[in-house]
Amino acid sequence: MQHSDPHITLITPSAPMSAATHGGRAKCLQRLVRLDMPVPVTVALSFDAVHRIAQGELPDMAALLEPFGPAPLLCVRPSSEDPDWGGPGAILNIGMNDAQFVEMSDRIGKDAAAALYMRFVQAYAIHVARLDPDAFEHVDLEGQDGLSEVLRAYEEETEEAFPQDPAVQLAEVLRSMARAWEGTTARLLRQAKGAPADAGLGLVVQEMALGLGQGEGESGSGVIQLVNSQTGEPQIIGRYLRQSQGRDALDRRNEAAFLASDPRGPSLQDLAPDAFAELKRMTALMRSRLREEMQAEFTIENGVVHILDGVRVARSARAGVRIAVQLAEDGIIPREEAILRVEPRALNELLHRQVDPGAKRDVLARGIAASPGAAAGRIVFSAAEAQASAARGEPCVLVRRETSPEDIRGMHAAVAVLTERGGMTSHAAVIGRGMGLPCVVGASELVFHTRSRKLVAPDGRELHQGDIITVDGTNGQVLAGEPAMIEAAEDDALITLMGWADDVRDIGVRANADTPTDAQTARNFKAQGIGLCRTEHMFFEADRLTVMREMIFADTSPDRAAALDRLLPMQRADFIELFRIMQGQPVCIRLFDPPLHEFLPSDRAGHRELAEALDLPLSDVTRRVEALAEYNPMLGMRGVRLGITVPEIYDMQARAIFEATIEASREGAPVVPEIMIPLVSAKREVELVKTRVDAVAAAVRTETGKNFAYRLGVMVETPRAALRAAEIAPHSAFLSFGTNDLTQMTYGLSRDDAGRFMSAYVKQNVFPEDPFHTLDQDGVGELLKIAAERGRGARPDLVLSICGEHGGSPESIAFCRAAGFDYVSCSPFRVPVARLAAAQLAV
Ligand code: PEP
Ligand code: MG
Repeated sequence: MQHSDPHITLITPSAPMSAATHGGRAKCLQRLVRLDMPVPVTVALSFDAVHRIAQGELPDMAALLEPFGPAPLLCVRPSSEDPDWGGPGAILNIGMNDAQFVEMSDRIGKDAAAALYMRFVQAYAIHVARLDPDAFEHVDLEGQDGLSEVLRAYEEETEEAFPQDPAVQLAEVLRSMARAWEGTTARLLRQAKGAPADAGLGLVVQEMALGLGQGEGESGSGVIQLVNSQTGEPQIIGRYLRQSQGRDALDRRNEAAFLASDPRGPSLQDLAPDAFAELKRMTALMRSRLREEMQAEFTIENGVVHILDGVRVARSARAGVRIAVQLAEDGIIPREEAILRVEPRALNELLHRQVDPGAKRDVLARGIAASPGAAAGRIVFSAAEAQASAARGEPCVLVRRETSPEDIRGMHAAVAVLTERGGMTSHAAVIGRGMGLPCVVGASELVFHTRSRKLVAPDGRELHQGDIITVDGTNGQVLAGEPAMIEAAEDDALITLMGWADDVRDIGVRANADTPTDAQTARNFKAQGIGLCRTEHMFFEADRLTVMREMIFADTSPDRAAALDRLLPMQRADFIELFRIMQGQPVCIRLFDPPLHEFLPSDRAGHRELAEALDLPLSDVTRRVEALAEYNPMLGMRGVRLGITVPEIYDMQARAIFEATIEASREGAPVVPEIMIPLVSAKREVELVKTRVDAVAAAVRTETGKNFAYRLGVMVETPRAALRAAEIAPHSAFLSFGTNDLTQMTYGLSRDDAGRFMSAYVKQNVFPEDPFHTLDQDGVGELLKIAAERGRGARPDLVLSICGEHGGSPESIAFCRAAGFDYVSCSPFRVPVARLAAAQLAV
């Protein structure tokens, strides 16, 4: 039957309605009706109808009530387009009045009828008449006394008798729910969940199926689902409460029974095996026909089952993956759809240890969520203390103003890192992500007293060395103590899903990997090679740092050559190991990039230690360190500039790469290394470096009598390199965009200091998001497009890729794919997210 008002629809198999006009709940109920499920009579109000109700324009109430017959008992529930956007709470038992009470008392007994009436008056008073809940929620009396008390309180507060006309009650309920949806708080809340500003609300009016009965057979209500929400494994889960209604079974969990027979207590299966079997069958039917794991809300009235509602089963990220894979394996959805159903970022929850979502969080402060996962440990304030703590077997959190290369060893020893300064691409963040170490940076809400070894939280709490904190790098929180955690797991369902994703993906995914451990992680996560190996990270180990410092301190070319001669075998061994681990997959090695002074100690004690190690007077060391200092080191003597002015460093690295290539090729597939020049801004820089690298290659070929191939490319990190891509490309087999530096230089925004004002900028919408986190497609992205076009114009076979931190984010991957890039490269732990995000673009 179609009402004269097209916005009020009796839910029948053929009634015209959709989630976009009547909301997800209404549409789902229609699907259940089509499946012949025992759904009580339901009428759906469209978004338009509800909007008009909020404006004061009520529908024809007589027509609305007509399908329910005389003296109905009804409930109203919200039906937003996406159920996750929420909505006002359901109101039950509309239509209860003095006359119903008398009639109901005969059917279910006086006390039960009084309880029902009382509940409705309470809900109506609080949610519809908006009276003070205190006057209604704590009525101690039961049965008729309680009812009289509540009715009296209603009269006192409103100076009116409780409305008796079901049409009036229903109209008021509809109006209050419609208005609640349009309120500012509700709007902001749902916008935070991704709803558009003008999202509509539908309402469903349904005849109550009671779950209370004194007739033959079982009466009660509950919920049922066929999978475990945490693991996604098949399991019959839910609760059932005799003589109850609504979500009582969940709200009064302790009194409720299990569904399937259970040694821990009574179950619906024991109480009413037929009803249980029917519910199981119907929920399974929902799964196969609605193509989703569903939770059914049901009532049993005198032995008869009613299905009131079906909602998508709430699920953890891990369960989400298993459910999608299982639906595809059962032939219910195609594999492509399983790929699309998993939010790539949700994989982080599976790949890292997390704070248990059910655990209580004592939040001390917030910072930037720089590297996902959570870990708890004792606070330490220096790398040395971190190492000492690790040696004692005590997990520790390294707390620093900011980290520098000197802290690497401390980071390896710590379970998490917390810094006061920095942003998404500062040292701690990049290294933390590379190592899979939970990391919060830019936590400037905390006051760091590193000298007196103390942190002060915004609420005045003080934390000292040795106190336990938890760093939650997934959401940027710093927590006091150690909440319960859930472990990471790359289970079989995830492996299956990723296999399907790789089958459809059409853009490559490599990993940024600096060390053999990183490379192994990259392989485990099935990266298709290394897109960026930051070679300088190989020099932070203690023994190498000293040789590196000797090299930096060398006054003469022979002295420098001597130090480089000692570094050569170390680098060669590093590369051999990388090539071996990657088993013939491409490995792109970036030549030395950072300013040299980053390898020198910054304080006096460090200078003294260095003077001892190098057997030099302290004043010499101090003078040398000062001489290397720059006002703006990130724009100074680094990258290719160092390669041009101190060419011996790149010569040594090129030799190490080629010798390692020959060595590794002996055992397996021939290795074709890729060598990448950082921070280029002019064609001539590339020509100069290329000439020297080619000369080293020729020398190694002659010395060894072995031939090998290699590819030389350019890292595009300056706006000028992007603009001049047409003249750079002919000298370069590939261009890889280093969007960390490119973002820094395009905005003129320090990647290491941006954390100080980034949140203010984002809050005031100066930047929609942190551009070091989410690629700025308008500005930096335009440079990428220009360079891609000009580069490919000059050299059609030019390989294009991105290796900045953006390479792992789904939005940047979409951008790079559209711009014709060959691959993206990201931290090893982000590789699965990137593989899935890339696959979703190709489906
Ligand atoms: C970059 O600048 O984007 C990059 C990958 O290099 P780094 O982060 O080492 O400067
Ligand atoms: Mg860079």
